[in-house]
Amino acid sequence: MATPTASESLNRGGAFLITSSGPEDIFTPADLSDDQRLIAQTAEEVVFKEVVPKIPELEQHEKGLMAEMLRRAGALGLLGGGIPEEYGGSGLDKVGATVLAEKLAAYASFAVSQGAHAGIGTVPIVYFGTEEQKRKYLPKIATGEFLSCYCLSEPQAGSDALASRTRAVLSPDGKNWILNGQKMWITNGGFADVYIVFAKVDGDSFSCFIVERGTPGFSVGAEEKKMGIRGSSTVPLFFENAPVPKENLLHDIGRGHIVAFNTLNVGRFSLGAYCLGGAKQALEVSSKYSKERVAFGKSLSEFGLIKSKLGEMAIRIYAVESMIYRSAGMIDAAVGTPTDADKTRQAMQVLEEYAIESSISKVAGSETLDMCVDEGVEIFGGYGFHEDYPMARAYRDSRINRIFEGTNEINRMLIVQMLMKRAMAGVLPLIPAAMKLGEEVLAGPSFEEAASGPLAEEGRSLTQAKKIFLLTAGTAVQAFREKLAEHQEIVAALANIVMEVYAMESSLLRAQKSSAVRGPAAAVMVDAARAFIYDALDRVEKEARTALAATVEGDALATQLAVLRRFAKHAPIDAIAIRRRVAAAVLAIDRYPFEGR
Ligand SMILES: Cc1cc2nc3c(=O)[nH]c(=O)nc-3n(C[C@H](O)[C@H](O)[C@H](O)COP(=O)(O)OP(=O)(O)OC[C@H]3O[C@@H](n4cnc5c(N)ncnc54)[C@H](O)[C@@H]3O)c2cc1C
Repeated sequence: MATPTASESLNRGGAFLITSSGPEDIFTPADLSDDQRLIAQTAEEVVFKEVVPKIPELEQHEKGLMAEMLRRAGALGLLGGGIPEEYGGSGLDKVGATVLAEKLAAYASFAVSQGAHAGIGTVPIVYFGTEEQKRKYLPKIATGEFLSCYCLSEPQAGSDALASRTRAVLSPDGKNWILNGQKMWITNGGFADVYIVFAKVDGDSFSCFIVERGTPGFSVGAEEKKMGIRGSSTVPLFFENAPVPKENLLHDIGRGHIVAFNTLNVGRFSLGAYCLGGAKQALEVSSKYSKERVAFGKSLSEFGLIKSKLGEMAIRIYAVESMIYRSAGMIDAAVGTPTDADKTRQAMQVLEEYAIESSISKVAGSETLDMCVDEGVEIFGGYGFHEDYPMARAYRDSRINRIFEGTNEINRMLIVQMLMKRAMAGVLPLIPAAMKLGEEVLAGPSFEEAASGPLAEEGRSLTQAKKIFLLTAGTAVQAFREKLAEHQEIVAALANIVMEVYAMESSLLRAQKSSAVRGPAAAVMVDAARAFIYDALDRVEKEARTALAATVEGDALATQLAVLRRFAKHAPIDAIAIRRRVAAAVLAIDRYPFEGR
């Protein structure tokens, strides 16, 4: 396969590791259209007016209430974003869907329920359904008349989803698929009307089916007792000789994994956006509380250690937000450039192209949310541990995000696996880039002029972080070759570097883009980018050191570590003062200060 040109490479999934983009190449929240800002406003109003007042009843699982909330959201157009207009939806682009997801996150149980319905419960029919299936189900799913769910996991098959034991066999008259087996952990399962169920035809061909509530032999178990997202429905499902009409097979026999994994790509991306919205909420309530609460004659917000927490929360949110909107913009650009007459095939190609960025959205989003709710609990002190205050629920609700839609361990491995696959196929020229770096290393250190100008040092740190990735990944691939996947700790370290690089670059480019437009008004955003990049390079160095020491030894290791030290050198910054300035921006408005900027 021919090596892609630089411009072809620029927008490919994972290309950020080896190409250099300019500020104008990326989408940022400042580029949101008026329509997209309106979506955000509408979603926020609906959640705060309709859903938030009902949280106590929803947490108590008042019968039918979450379904009613979803149907109301459907009536207001908040369920059909992923459905094309011709089937009754609003056909939102990725950026629009991201804005929407963020704003629904004010109550995590609602966001999860909406995501299970409008995301993973809808995507399989949109992308893989026949015309008849789309016409029959999508208009009703768009309004909420039919509520939907995605049924992949089983008691003994979660991460290892293809170990499914649910079976489907064709009935003797050829009219129905007869399903037998059990599903586990199904969000919305307690009240859904439409179930996207995965089962193996004749026990070996993994396939997908649309099952309707009321199917004989199909029953729904009791609600699980969960640590968090208690307002959402999570149930097991049972199939005992349940007949599913033959025409309800979704996509081809034996192609269920294509449906399952492409759907999860979409789900993962949105999950990052929900987490982003949740993290902003955590920052907002923490900021307000820190001003109200007095200790030692001062409000908490006056203490350096509290400022440091608020500042770091905002900085981490900024990095995740920059990545997620950048990815959404790339996905929209790719969808908007038709390369294939078959729209479904094109959409699938785009989903696959940006699968790395979707996994990054999921992992970085969920871990940033966890960090923010954890610090939020700390800022609330004892009241953070009390269920009458908002942080306790936020803390419990956050934890699931690292587990579902592919655990963060599985997603880390996927990031590297997908990169390697693309490198081997020649789609992503990682190998030539690693070889070029090898030549540079052999040539020895060159005289480098000190970086000058705003963000110049950060630009240099980014370039060095990319080199560190190539150095570490190249060494690991050479040492372990096709057995690299067995060295999971090294793979995870590589995935962490990949995520840091994407976050560093997205933060940097957004700050540069904002500075060019807003001048000194973007100073705090520049601060956030600087603090993030400074710490990120240290984290990258540490991950690389760990991985290299587990990969080579003796002189080879000493040489690699010397190169690493050279790449990881950076001029010190006053990160404490920066965090204080970012915290001051948060405290001034009691919100995340870079929204829409
Ligand atoms: C509240 C909730 C809602 C959910 N909603 C849905 C839903 O709507 N639909 C649906 O289909 N599923 C749903 N799930 C299921 C969820 O997707 C699974 O729980 C998840 O995929 C993990 O599977 P598991 O629980 O079987 O854990 P396991 O797969 O047993 O994993 C346990 C641990 O082992 C690790 N691990 C597993 N394999 C490997 C490996 N190869 N290498 C290294 N580490 C590994 C995991 O990362 C994890 O840390 C939901 C779960 C919960 C708790």
